[in-house]
Amino acid sequence: MTIGDSILKLLKEEINEVEYNRYIKQLSFCTEDSKTDYALFLAPNPLIASWVKTKYSEKIAHLFEVKTSVKPQVVIELKNRRKKSQSKESNLVTPQHSAHQSLLNPAYTFDNYVVGGTNQFAFSAAQSVCEKPGEAYNPLFIYGGVGLGKTHLMQSVGNRLQTQGKSVIYSSVEQFVNDFTRHLRNQTMDRFKDKYRKCNVLMIDDVQFLSGKNQTQEEVFHTFETLRAENKQIILTSDKHPKQIAGLENRLKSRFEWGLIADIQPPELETKIAIIKKKCEMNKVDISKEIIDYIATIIDNNAREIEGILSKLHAYAKLMNQEITLEFTKNVLKEQLKDKKENITIEDIIKFVAKELNVKPSEIRSKSRSKNIVYARRVCIYLARELTQNSMPQLAQFFGMKDHTAISHTMRKINQLLKDDEDFKVKIDELNNKMSAQKSI
Ligand code: ADP
Ligand code: MG
Repeated sequence: MTIGDSILKLLKEEINEVEYNRYIKQLSFCTEDSKTDYALFLAPNPLIASWVKTKYSEKIAHLFEVKTSVKPQVVIELKNRRKKSQSKESNLVTPQHSAHQSLLNPAYTFDNYVVGGTNQFAFSAAQSVCEKPGEAYNPLFIYGGVGLGKTHLMQSVGNRLQTQGKSVIYSSVEQFVNDFTRHLRNQTMDRFKDKYRKCNVLMIDDVQFLSGKNQTQEEVFHTFETLRAENKQIILTSDKHPKQIAGLENRLKSRFEWGLIADIQPPELETKIAIIKKKCEMNKVDISKEIIDYIATIIDNNAREIEGILSKLHAYAKLMNQEITLEFTKNVLKEQLKDKKENITIEDIIKFVAKELNVKPSEIRSKSRSKNIVYARRVCIYLARELTQNSMPQLAQFFGMKDHTAISHTMRKINQLLKDDEDFKVKIDELNNKMSAQKSI
């Protein structure tokens, strides 16, 4: 049995049988073209290829890592396209093709990074590091929520410095730990030290996972000391500020703060739109502005969802031999939206709106007449009418109003605003789409 087959067998134990039979079982592992850090699987049709890529490639890479200590780049290609020259379509399925020489993803470049108000600072810091590696900001510590572009930005630095001939090591905490234990076991720690302490640039991704791993922290500490003493650049990312990482030794916390700390906040709507445009360009997917705007409003802040949505649209459109229209997009994403709708409660809506509009849930249900609370309450009532099955009397009771006429009065007021106030309409649409899509994609 090839390594690829045994990985798929491991996956079988972890996922449900229907999914396994429908998708995973259809894959074949391509031994001739795979390498330790590059695993190629062939799929019989674009739908399966796209689905596996979106849903399972990360998991497959992880299983490889557990088994072989190396996390490969997992690529899914179409069986019958393999022999032909790379066509536009297969590009989407294999966008990160040439990455197998290095663990850096070549698509993660500054040119492909969209800059907006919430990542501008981190972006400039990353560029400065490229100008004076080891000198300007050492370490550079980038933190922010999932899918906000930390890895992309860090690897942009790596890719740029690599083209300037610098040796760059990029590692997740998981890889670092695996490498460390393997070398320890094989009594080859010298090689481990050579690798991590003799590079020009060391990048460790998601250092929050160091939490509680004392032996690894010790090793990171010594690696850090050696590299910094020699003015070698260190870049770290995390989902939170060093101070907030529980279970991290104080000496590491303080060292992580020695250079520059840059945070990335969730993107504004405009930036999301620009990111989607960029991904469309890169993946050669041609969709209208209207659809791009729609996708921007249904995704949460996590840009990682974008590629999943695009490849899904692309695969369905090909399968059904249809153009990607707004109607089609809504249909493709509808099932997920519908599932979501059925589960939404008024409490969910209040919680969501409170967070989005920066007020307290209890204020929304109070009798407060202050402007922002009234606004938030109206939005909640509107969304509750749109997304839940509650009757007007039920809503009246829930929001502490006299009776259902108060709700219908509010609804009339909202409908008027939707007609007259473009900003209000845009905000309501955005919240509505987001709320509908929140857990679904
Ligand atoms: P993180 O490491 O913060 O979880 P990633 O760097 O993995 O996020 O980004 C997730 C996906 O979103 C990647 O495909 C990345 O290219 C894309 N992305 C995120 N932010 C941006 C951005 N500002 N410009 C372009 N692509 C972005
Ligand atoms: Mg990341």
